[in-house]
Amino acid sequence: MQNFPTISILTETKAVEPIITEGKIVGVVTKDKTGKKKHYYSKIVTDCSGYTAIIRKQLPSDIFPKINQVSREETIVSCREIIQTKEEHSFQKQMRIELHPELPPPGYFWIFSKGKTKLNVGVGWLINEQNKKINPSDVLEKIREKIFP
Ligand SMILES: Cc1cc2nc3c(=O)[nH]c(=O)nc-3n(C[C@H](O)[C@H](O)[C@H](O)COP(=O)(O)OP(=O)(O)OC[C@H]3O[C@@H](n4cnc5c(N)ncnc54)[C@H](O)[C@@H]3O)c2cc1C
Repeated sequence: MQNFPTISILTETKAVEPIITEGKIVGVVTKDKTGKKKHYYSKIVTDCSGYTAIIRKQLPSDIFPKINQVSREETIVSCREIIQTKEEHSFQKQMRIELHPELPPPGYFWIFSKGKTKLNVGVGWLINEQNKKINPSDVLEKIREKIFP
């Protein structure tokens, strides 16, 4: 029988920085909700922090020249809300992607049904020079007010 390593999930804990020794990443420093820091050592460190890139962005480029950061043009901004309707909404079991004039291109509005009176609604767009100052929560509010007054 194969032996699997034990996996521990640390909830309410953030990775804060890599531990680098002799040009190699050998672990991470974490911080729990009380602010207490701990050092963890491992053979492999996988940064799964998404856009935050908490480990990736702290790697010295002279030691890790091939690790790129996400460029601004590849970044999508978004804002999402879970909303409750007073009566059963008309989007039961639907996942919709819509275009609205309030949205800066290239962007879209989504409606995902989450039950009879609950919905996940949001807006998102790829950032460019023309839309970089537009606030997603303002745009979401306008479209949400229009569809779910
Ligand atoms: C509006 C929008 C629409 C999208 N639509 C699509 C789509 O239709 N199809 C598609 O394929 N992709 C889509 N994407 C992209 C997709 O969401 C991402 O590519 C994907 O979620 C990235 O996954 P990930 O696991 O790398 O990061 P994430 O899903 O961002 O997960 C990162 C996790 O790390 C946690 N974290 C962050 N910092 C730390 C830290 N310091 N310590 C510990 N944990 C941390 C975060 O809380 C989060 O849970 C969309 C993105 C957006 C914004």
